[in-house]
Amino acid sequence: MNAKVWLVGAGPGDPELLTLKAVKALNQAEVVMIDDLVNPAVLEHCPSARIVPVGKRGGCRSTPQAFIHRLMLRYARQGKCVVRLKGGDPCIFGRGSEEADWLAEHGIEVEMVNGITAGLAGATNCGIPLTLRGVARGVTLVTAHTQDDSSLNWQALAQGGTTLVVYMGVAKLGEVRDSLLTGGMRADMPVAMIENASLPEQRECRSSLQRMLGDAAAFQLKSPAILVIGEVAEAAQHLALAQSA
Ligand code: SAH
Repeated sequence: MNAKVWLVGAGPGDPELLTLKAVKALNQAEVVMIDDLVNPAVLEHCPSARIVPVGKRGGCRSTPQAFIHRLMLRYARQGKCVVRLKGGDPCIFGRGSEEADWLAEHGIEVEMVNGITAGLAGATNCGIPLTLRGVARGVTLVTAHTQDDSSLNWQALAQGGTTLVVYMGVAKLGEVRDSLLTGGMRADMPVAMIENASLPEQRECRSSLQRMLGDAAAFQLKSPAILVIGEVAEAAQHLALAQSA
């Protein structure tokens, strides 16, 4: 039997944002190894598969990456059709490429399937265009959480003129704000904080760079959330005001 692992993006949460290709892979799956940011509702597409949770989120002890690697390999070598299901897109802060490389080194065929990443889903759901003609000529996705000590070039980010979408930022709001202010971003730069993007529980908090820490505390912002920092973060508000005027 052909050993194969599908590395599949489950999208941001709304099961209707799964791709058709993801659904096809799930339909064929015999084993589904699932991260905790994945909405379990998507498992309706693989009712007879064995579901193996391998999440790593806060509180519980994490499943070591090496263990996940070995487990994928074991199932694949048994000839099983394995789907490794990850939140959002497997290659946006998802270690998808590390897992693909490791499997390939061990002779396992890998196929990746895109998912809609949380930053894009959250912004669009809130009516925020991440790029906007004449306002934002680009968008930069960054993580506020790094495993090593190498820090981002915040000055370049602060002055780059692109919209910033910050992942894993809830516990690092103060650092993000300070780094961008020190880097030269204006204090009243609009910020949108979007929690549980695309899910029925989605909430958004509009703020500014200067005020975002206090506003997030008052709002009781919780993970998972993304931050959208840039002029566009108030675009939809203007739109709403214009419509209600
Ligand atoms: N591969 C995922 C990102 C994994 S990193 C993707 O492409 O979306 C985990 C971070 O993603 C969280 O800390 C949060 O910043 C963001 N995230 C994931 N799902 C989210 C959601 N439904 N709403 C808001 N942010 C989310």
